[in-house]
Amino acid sequence: MEGNAAASLAGKCDGCGATDVPLMKISLGRDFFGRVYDRLSPNADLSPKWYCDRCSVEKNLQRDFRDIKGEFEKLTKGEASALGHADQIGRAKLRLKEIAAMLAADALKPALLKPEEVAALARALETRHA
Ligand SMILES: [Zn+2]
Repeated sequence: MEGNAAASLAGKCDGCGATDVPLMKISLGRDFFGRVYDRLSPNADLSPKWYCDRCSVEKNLQRDFRDIKGEFEKLTKGEASALGHADQIGRAKLRLKEIAAMLAADALKPALLKPEEVAALARALETRHA
């Protein structure tokens, strides 16, 4: 029980609010584009979040979704974007498909991520780079 492997049986899940389940502290690590995640959310370590198994999976999907969404917004504004490279666009499209598939299969309870938002972003990417 130390560092990113920390786990606790106390408290409740910051995602779904479940209690009496094993909770994991989300490892920040690197974002979808390989950048150090802490750089993007310097306050993250000041208020660590704890998630149950299911929500920790969804939290990672949510993080990737946000990263892709943020970079796509930059791209549409004509700013420098990690999605400016064709291979990254391909990765992002695949990842969005994965996320949508997991939500559609009801493998996750969409407490953190809305399926319609994922679908809308996937469509926007396809439309722009068809
Ligand atoms: Zn949860």
